[in-house]
Parts: sequence; C-alpha cells; structure tokens
Amino acid sequence: MKKSNKYLIQRAGWYIVGFGLFFAPFAFFQKILISVFKLEGSGDIHGACFRMGVQSLFTGKGLSLLTTSGIIVSLLLVSALLLGPLFCGRFCAAGAFTEYISRIVPEKFKINWQKYINPTPVRYGILAGFLIVPFLSYSVACSYCNYFLLEKLASGNIGVLGSTTIITGLFWLIIFGAFTKGGRGYCSYLCPVGAIQSLLHSIGAKFGFTYKLKFTKEKCVSCNLCVKDCPMGALQSVDKLLKYNINNCITCHQCSHICPNNAITYGQGMSKWNEINKEEVKVPVVIDTRRV
Ligand code: SF4
Ligand code: SF4
Repeated sequence: MKKSNKYLIQRAGWYIVGFGLFFAPFAFFQKILISVFKLEGSGDIHGACFRMGVQSLFTGKGLSLLTTSGIIVSLLLVSALLLGPLFCGRFCAAGAFTEYISRIVPEKFKINWQKYINPTPVRYGILAGFLIVPFLSYSVACSYCNYFLLEKLASGNIGVLGSTTIITGLFWLIIFGAFTKGGRGYCSYLCPVGAIQSLLHSIGAKFGFTYKLKFTKEKCVSCNLCVKDCPMGALQSVDKLLKYNINNCITCHQCSHICPNNAITYGQGMSKWNEINKEEVKVPVVIDTRRV
C-alpha cells in the first residue's frame, strides 16, 4: 500500500476518535468533563461550541472557563497557537467527512474554487460576522452549523428539513464538499473555528519554540505531489516554486507524508517558507534587468 494511502487511513482513525470525543450521541469528552468536574454544559457538540463562549463574553456574562465549552475552547486556542490547528487536522469529523467523500469523486467533476476566489478574506470575513452574530440572534449560527448538521445526521434526527438545513447541507456536503477539489471548501471558506485557529497558528509559527510545517528547499524536486494532495489548497506551485498559505493550512500532515524526499517536515524551529516567497518576488526583477 502507498505511504500516502496508509496515512489517509491513519488520519481517518483520528477523525473517528474525534467524532466519538466531541459529537453526540457519544461526545465522551464533554460527558467526562461534566461528570468528573460537575460542570455546566451539554453532552453534545453545543457543549464544545466556540460561538457560545464568544456570546457569553459579548453579552456581558463573561467568559466562564468552568464550562465544557470554556475548557474545550481554551484547549483549542492554546493548541492552535503552539501546535497548529490540531482540531481541524486531527479531530474534526465534519471536515474529514466531506474530504473523504470528495476523494472518491473523479477529478474532472471537481471545482478548484481557489482559482477564482481567494479563501483568506472570505474566511476571516465569516469569522468577523460570527463574532457579531451574538448581538443579533442566538440561533442563526446554529442554523448554518455543519457540526450541528453532522450530529443530526449521525443520530438520525434531522427533524423538519428547513431551508437553513438544506442550504447548509448543500454547501457543506455537495458544492463545497464532494465536488470541490480537496473536499474541504467549507473549511477553507466558511468555518470560523478553523479561521481562528489558523490566525493563532500564523502568529505562533513566527516563534521558534512552536510546532509548524517546515520546508527544506534543497530537498524539493518539484514533483507537485503535495500540491495535488493538499485537501485545503494551502500549497500552490508558482513558476516551479512551492508557495504555502499558512492561513489555510490545517496541519493534517498529508503533504509531509506524500513527499518522496522529506522536503516538508513538522517540528520546532523556523519554517523557511518565507525565504521561498522572497526569492519568488526577486525572479521578475532579474528578468526585467536583462531585457533592458
Ligand atoms: S499544507 Fe500540508 S498540512 Fe497543510 S493542509 Fe495542506 S496537506 Fe495539510
Ligand atoms: S511533494 Fe515534496 S518534493 Fe514534491 S513538490 Fe512537494 S515538497 Fe517538493
């Protein structure tokens, strides 16, 4: 079996663990917190909700760390800063679900949205909207939440098929899922939980003591296998140079496992991706000088 396929199976195992830990009907993590520490919170995905913490903060209730969502959100943010978007890359069953469905759809039927729309401003625009939502309505974010929809699908209780459920399902599973290159269009464009983790990761990655993807240019043979297999479109080949968009990376490590030369690794130290971007900027300057 190919190394990359082996790793896909290994990753699937992590996502199944993530589903059991955070999503009802199991939600073991929330249930353990509730029973061991006698905390407030629900034993389902709402008990791990990032928005509810923000809602409490913005509506004057303060951010209580002594709730299931308070503890989970704190772990999420600290881990993103130190290790990268660990939840997205390891435990998010909602993102993995569409990625794996998309992997069985032939390439010719899939759209590479990133050729047309830069995901970064959309993603952070959605994050900004998500932070404003608590001032407007408590339930509107839940209505469009793919985590909540996955939980409903898994428990066989989708209830009345409302317009918001249909819109969310259509975008998450179909348009931005099965028929999107990489299968993680919802993660790339619409997920505020991923956006806040990526933001923290991009800050943390500037420091040597944090963990991040590192690139050794000398080892890269420009085979583009990593570009083709990245589910987030975070790697692009521009004029044979590998460009990395940290704001769209979920540190799933698919690229480092597919690379035949270990050019991409994960660890502490400096990432070296910026050096490539600097060289890329220099190339056209050299060409222009020769023409003159
Ligand atoms: S760049 Fe690598 S680690 Fe980041 S999302 Fe793409 S495949 Fe995963
Ligand atoms: S898979 Fe490795 S060698 Fe191939 S382009 Fe990516 S980093 Fe370079």
